[in-house]
Parts: sequence; C-alpha cells; structure tokens
Amino acid sequence: MTAHRGRRMHSGPRPMRTEITRRFRFEAAHRLPHVPEGHKCARLHGHSFRVAVVVAGEVDAALGWIVDYADLDRAWEPLHALLDHRYLNEVPGLDNPTSERIAALILERFSVRGARVVRVHLDETCNAGVTVYAD
Ligand SMILES: [Zn+2]
Repeated sequence: MTAHRGRRMHSGPRPMRTEITRRFRFEAAHRLPHVPEGHKCARLHGHSFRVAVVVAGEVDAALGWIVDYADLDRAWEPLHALLDHRYLNEVPGLDNPTSERIAALILERFSVRGARVVRVHLDETCNAGVTVYAD
C-alpha cells in the first residue's frame, strides 16, 4: 500500500478552516507628513484604493456559508462613508495616512456578526499594497 492510500484510510473529517474575501474600492486624497524632504508623497495626491477584507468563521451547516457577502457589504458602508472622497489626513486617527495605517483602521473597525476579520489587504496602486493581520 502506498503512503498516499494509507492516508486516505484515516477516518473523520479532514481539519480545515474557511475564509471568505470581499473586495471594495474607495477614492481618496492624502499626503504623508513625515517623509523626507522632497519625497513625492509629501505632496497632495490621490489614489483609487482597493481593499480586500478576509473574514473567518464557522460554516453554517444549513446555509453552507460563513456569512452572506451582503453582510460584508453592509459592514463596509460606514468605512466607505468615512474614507471615500475624503482628505484622509483629516480623518480622525489618520493624521499620517500611510497604507499601513489605513489598513489597520479598516481592520479595527470592520465588524460583522458571525465572522471575525483575519486580515485586510489594501492596494494604493496596481503594484503597491499592504496586508495587516489580526493576531
Ligand atoms: Zn499616496
């Protein structure tokens, strides 16, 4: 018997965990007040930020999902209102609105019943982004 077949003979469900991801967008302006003199990010500019919120939780036996994606959309609404088309430096807690700080704010404030946020990924350009983890 091969090792592969031997593993398959173990009984019981395979341990697993499930995460779901919902993606959002917002447009905002900022400047970074603590960068070295002459750094381009010291100038006022804007981004089309893209956010991926990843949540984990128990998969409901009847529904077969952790939460409805629509619940994640509702959880995003107050954050969208807080961030979209804003000058981020004026948002409380974002006086130095780096992507790291913005993603952390989203992770701290995103709240949905039946799931917990495990990480938030924030892209500020098509090739630059950060991930913050809840642990
Ligand atoms: Zn920027």
